[in-house]
Amino acid sequence: MGVGERTRIRTHPERAVPDEAEEILLAGLVAHVGFVVDGQPFVIPMGYHYEAGKLYIHGARGGRLPRTLRDGQPVCVAVTLLDGLVASRHALYHSMNYRGAIAFGRVRPVVGDAQKTAIFDRMTLRYFPGRTMGVDYHPPSAADLKITELLEIEIEELNGKRRTGPPTGPEDAQPDAFGTRGVFPVPDR
Ligand SMILES: Cc1cc2nc3c(=O)[nH]c(=O)nc-3n(C[C@H](O)[C@H](O)[C@H](O)COP(=O)(O)OP(=O)(O)OC[C@H]3O[C@@H](n4cnc5c(N)ncnc54)[C@H](O)[C@@H]3O)c2cc1C
Repeated sequence: MGVGERTRIRTHPERAVPDEAEEILLAGLVAHVGFVVDGQPFVIPMGYHYEAGKLYIHGARGGRLPRTLRDGQPVCVAVTLLDGLVASRHALYHSMNYRGAIAFGRVRPVVGDAQKTAIFDRMTLRYFPGRTMGVDYHPPSAADLKITELLEIEIEELNGKRRTGPPTGPEDAQPDAFGTRGVFPVPDR
């Protein structure tokens, strides 16, 4: 796992943060999972779990995603954290502050009720720190586990990218220039 030709950042390479990529995967809440079926690309948003070089996604066994993502299928996963909206005195330089990680890997189903339950437990704890299986909620039953496919994505390549700071337009550092500028909080919509 590391940066490769697919994940080498070409545009603004100075924003590459390969050392932060795992941290971004640990902090993110939504993964956009991209895959190709018969030449047609699909991107599906999902909850996920990350640990030790592997991403985990899950879905109803009958759903399209688990049915489509067969053993060994290549996928691309994007996780984004939005940190601010960046306004410039020039149209071209409007931007966003963000941290993003993109991973490429291959899928394999996780089998075995004990292993699936342990991963779901840790996934739930990542979203709800301190929430305890068997105390705060019932563990999944054998029937629950049967109808829920858990897929492991072994990461082959991973990189992170981060933009921080104010706008970088030609007049953004000049207080008396035309227009307004600033970095604004992400609105709650
Ligand atoms: C924040 C978030 C977290 C989610 N977490 C999970 C998860 O952990 N597991 C899980 O199984 N599902 C999750 N979902 C739902 C997931 O996005 C899919 O809707 C679901 O997995 C069914 O996928 P499918 O390909 O079988 O859907 P299908 O109904 O077969 O998809 C058919 C078409 O419906 C449209 N579509 C599907 N999903 C969406 C969507 N979310 N928004 C808009 N259009 C859509 C697309 O055009 C797609 O091609 C999550 C959704 C969100 C937004």
